[in-house]
Amino acid sequence: MKNQMDFRPGDWLRAAVLIGLGLTAGCGGSSDSGAGGAGGNGGAGEKKIRVTATVGMVAYTAERVGGSHVEVSALMGPGVDPHLYKASEGDIRKLSDADIIFYSGLNLEGKMGEVLKKIGAAGKPVVAVSEQGVDPSLLRSPPEFQGHHDPHIWFDVSLWAKTILPAAEALAKLAPQWADEFRANAAAYEKELAALHEDCKTQLATIPKAQRVLITAHDAFGYFGRAYDVQVEGLQGVSTSSEYGLRDIQRLVELIVQRKVKAVFVESSVPRRSIEAVVEGCKARGHQVVIGGSLFSDAMGEPGTPDGTYPGMVRKNLQIIVGALK
Ligand SMILES: [Zn+2]
Repeated sequence: MKNQMDFRPGDWLRAAVLIGLGLTAGCGGSSDSGAGGAGGNGGAGEKKIRVTATVGMVAYTAERVGGSHVEVSALMGPGVDPHLYKASEGDIRKLSDADIIFYSGLNLEGKMGEVLKKIGAAGKPVVAVSEQGVDPSLLRSPPEFQGHHDPHIWFDVSLWAKTILPAAEALAKLAPQWADEFRANAAAYEKELAALHEDCKTQLATIPKAQRVLITAHDAFGYFGRAYDVQVEGLQGVSTSSEYGLRDIQRLVELIVQRKVKAVFVESSVPRRSIEAVVEGCKARGHQVVIGGSLFSDAMGEPGTPDGTYPGMVRKNLQIIVGALK
């Protein structure tokens, strides 16, 4: 990633204030529409609502719900880790230019979530779709998230579906003339996800229970395990090599050998090294386990491909997991 700037909290604060006031330099070309411009030109104009979203999954919701009335840009593309994300100059422009900003929330976006809250407080519509849509009683709070909720709710399709309505209502508030359309689009997308959720259940249930173990290097799949009755095991702290130890590896090797698990998985935004150590450990015990493929975790695939949509990303993971473990 070129052009990334390492923002300190102070820089962010300044940026947030500037954006809130609509004063940032470099937003030429869009100076014709100030704050609230999109809501005001529903009559003659077909001017689109400019949406800026953080992760692809949220951007996709905005596209589905907004349909032809929105122009969506996602800040975090394929392979990007939202937890560690640092904004670029281009991002500041996209946030500044946006009529409305969507993000997932629940600490997924790390420091950026705090900044987005401040931008919201300064007057621009900023919506954390997960925080708005999902009742806290449905959230996981495992110890590895250190007092925070697990933010990876898109791995339970039925939970992620709850983030659609907050997006639709926020767009409806901004552009009431299209409210019915946004709500109809939301209902259609919810229906599609309800069917996808059932599909996930049905397909995963075809893996024998003992072998229905998903071993990955990143703790993103907790909701997946809970929703679809899959035992999820991970190596802790994959972001730095010092945080996972030999003992974690041995524990996983033991589990894999005992249960005759066929495959372990890597992810698009996580290094393979730790998982490879597990594969080697099993080999030494005489059990062949393969790397079952690369799963999408916190980012979708390339835009313009099926993997670059939320349902497509879910289906690809499903296909890889069922194919390797069954
Ligand atoms: Zn994650």
